[in-house]
Amino acid sequence: MRNITKRIFLTALTCPTLGWLMRQKEEEKSTTITAAEKYQIEQGLEIGIRARALYPDGILIAARDLDSAVTETTNLMRNKKESTLFEAAFRIDNFTTRADIVMRKDDGRWHMIEVKSSVNAKQKFIDDMAYTAMIIERAGFDIATISLLLISKAFRLGMPSEKLFVEIDHTDTVKARIEEFKPVCAELEELTGMREKPEPKLRFECRSCELFKDCTGQGIENHIFDLPRLNQARFEALTESGIVCIEDIPPGLPLTGNQVRAKDCVQLKKPHIEARLKTELETVSWPAYYLDFETVMTAIPLYLDIAPYTQLPTQYSIHKCSELGLVVKHSEYLTDPGRDCRRDLAGHLIADLNGEGSIIVYTSFEKTVISSLARLYPDISADLNLLIGRLVDLEAIIRKNFYHPDFLGSTSIKRTLPVLVPEMSYDGLEIGDGYTAMSVFALLALGKYGASEAETLKRHLLDYCKQDTFAMVKLHKRLVEYVIYGQINCRVHGER
Ligand code: SF4
Repeated sequence: MRNITKRIFLTALTCPTLGWLMRQKEEEKSTTITAAEKYQIEQGLEIGIRARALYPDGILIAARDLDSAVTETTNLMRNKKESTLFEAAFRIDNFTTRADIVMRKDDGRWHMIEVKSSVNAKQKFIDDMAYTAMIIERAGFDIATISLLLISKAFRLGMPSEKLFVEIDHTDTVKARIEEFKPVCAELEELTGMREKPEPKLRFECRSCELFKDCTGQGIENHIFDLPRLNQARFEALTESGIVCIEDIPPGLPLTGNQVRAKDCVQLKKPHIEARLKTELETVSWPAYYLDFETVMTAIPLYLDIAPYTQLPTQYSIHKCSELGLVVKHSEYLTDPGRDCRRDLAGHLIADLNGEGSIIVYTSFEKTVISSLARLYPDISADLNLLIGRLVDLEAIIRKNFYHPDFLGSTSIKRTLPVLVPEMSYDGLEIGDGYTAMSVFALLALGKYGASEAETLKRHLLDYCKQDTFAMVKLHKRLVEYVIYGQINCRVHGER
């Protein structure tokens, strides 16, 4: 059985079953890492190095083995000469933790700093700090003050490391949270150490738990989690009435309009189509251009004069159709990861969308990207604003007018595509989701790949974006056919 780490403690606080499973299972050491994990590691390392650079006299507890790290930390903290430690390790009974930074104060007590790659403080950071400070105190060291080191929005590439961070004191909030943690330590230690797994209990957090299908969701079809935008209060109201299946929701229970529609679809076992769907789909003017962007956002900006976490468009794909489902041209653009190419991208975009037909997008994201380009480049803002006037949001049309029980509460393309176009999927693509695409681009910009691998990855990025717009072409066609023929697996004409 493993020691109780911060992750296990905070997980068990919400769900003892999951905390128990994490504690009983040895941590799996994956032999391969994904691009998204690689980018997170790279970013974490860079931020850690820059944070440590703020305290040139600090000592890094480099040992990964816990026993050695705890001994080294204890010796150094008891040695009055050393005042700043990085990655200091602590253990008390079965509880362990590592602190990003601890600094000795003039009165001999300690200041603890938690480093986060975020620009905003979050409740989970308070919990992280409370657990770590609690264990340090139980290990015999007096924590006087506690603060968060966050990324400063004012940082720009080229500035020294001290400008990257902003330190915010959270002593009072964290100390109050420690007082809430203390009484439950013994109980969580016992629960996560039991021979038998604690009985799972359906809770709001199950919705995002990767074990849900094999745990509290096992064997339950049409779970209330499949209601669109179900919030915690409504979830609790339903479960307190003993309702976990959409089929069991009685008429008249307070739900949003979209939730009522989803409930009715499940209970009647048929899709819902608003009468105006056909009219809205007919607003598309041809030729139509199906557009999708990919973007990148990083804590440490990739280029000069850009704030942390600015969303930068990096590529687009456009399928041009002369009529429904008939592709006549594909255009794509991927920026050079080595420099800020937004101006070039905007110019190519205007040229590739030159014409008068509708520009079909999925969600309002593309509008946001084009608007930000228009604000950035006044000389081409008129052309960009003309593009905005031609946008047609297919997701909004679906969300307002169409619901299928198999959408499971969401109209994201990852949900609607398998239902309406089941023969098409993202399987087999080397890059199959937006977060991976963003991570790969960031790693390319940071020069983390050799020339040949970089060229291959650029092709994979283009393939992923192309799949998104082709999916929209097919989805649109199938939706129109659905309205006309009223069935999903109707014959499809003229597909590529
Ligand atoms: S599905 Fe729910 S009860 Fe089961 S482990 Fe996950 S959070 Fe815990």
